[in-house]
Amino acid sequence: MNHQPHIISGRDIATRLLEEELIPKVNKLNKKNVQPKLVVILVGDHAASASYVRQKEKFADKAGILAETWRYDADVSEAKILEEIECINADDSIHGVIVQLPLPDHISVEKVLNTIDPNKDVDGFTPTNVGRLFLGEPCLQCCTPKGIIRMIEESGEDLMGKNVVVIGRSNIVGKPVSILALNKRATVTTCHSRTKDIDKMLEDADIIIVAVGIPKFLKAESVPEGAVVIDVGIHRTEEGKLCGDVDFEAVSEKAKAISPVPGGVGPMTVFCLIENTIEAAEQLS
Ligand code: NAP
Repeated sequence: MNHQPHIISGRDIATRLLEEELIPKVNKLNKKNVQPKLVVILVGDHAASASYVRQKEKFADKAGILAETWRYDADVSEAKILEEIECINADDSIHGVIVQLPLPDHISVEKVLNTIDPNKDVDGFTPTNVGRLFLGEPCLQCCTPKGIIRMIEESGEDLMGKNVVVIGRSNIVGKPVSILALNKRATVTTCHSRTKDIDKMLEDADIIIVAVGIPKFLKAESVPEGAVVIDVGIHRTEEGKLCGDVDFEAVSEKAKAISPVPGGVGPMTVFCLIENTIEAAEQLS
């Protein structure tokens, strides 16, 4: 008999929350003559980055906020980018700024992040916001981890007391999502490339979050019956299709609920970016 898990559609959740939460907040700000505005700094012509930026612009438009992409050649100087960020910091009409990663090697990501005003840091990558996230204080939270937690909760799962296994310990996904789950009082295990026996760590998992960057890394045999599986990875296959870090078809046979790729974590990340821009506008105005 074919087991049918609940498909956690990040796309559907983001569309619903756009109507229920974001548009009313933007309308309220508009009544106070505030028009939330996001600036995306895009350096070079990285194809994936350009595609992510288009998705952000499209969602911003649906929410009724302004989104501008400032484009620079790949050989733009670091000083020029830092100068542009200083101008944005000082411009009251701009509430959020993100610098699309990756950057060319001659531009220091650390210097860029240290220059962004934490109150406009809608990617949640500055040391100030990362520190606040760690402490469980109100802050602009990084978008992918925030989106993952929201989609788990919107799917009806309570994180408190659950065994959450995160595979991946990057600064943009694995580590912050582990801390956010811990702040929700889940019991969190964070695995990585040096973890001795990941399958053993997964034995008692209620929720598995996979962010390793390897196509179809998580196999059905590693997944306990009834687990909730969140797939963060995104890859283009040789046939030109998208797939994630989870062997979706096989894992679906065992999971209670699973997020798809595309249509899972990606749209929730974009949703959180626009939500953060609106939050920043509320705080700054
Ligand atoms: P990353 O910086 O490359 O980190 C990958 C992590 O996986 C590292 O911690 C690494 O361990 C671990 N890892 C690698 N091989 C492993 C193995 N064989 N067993 C166990 N752990 C292993 O990747 P990332 O930036 O977190 O991104 C992960 C994936 O999510 C990528 O596919 C990326 O494109 C995708 N992503 C999607 C979104 C979205 O919005 N949908 C956002 C961000 C990222 P070590 O630390 O020990 O090396």
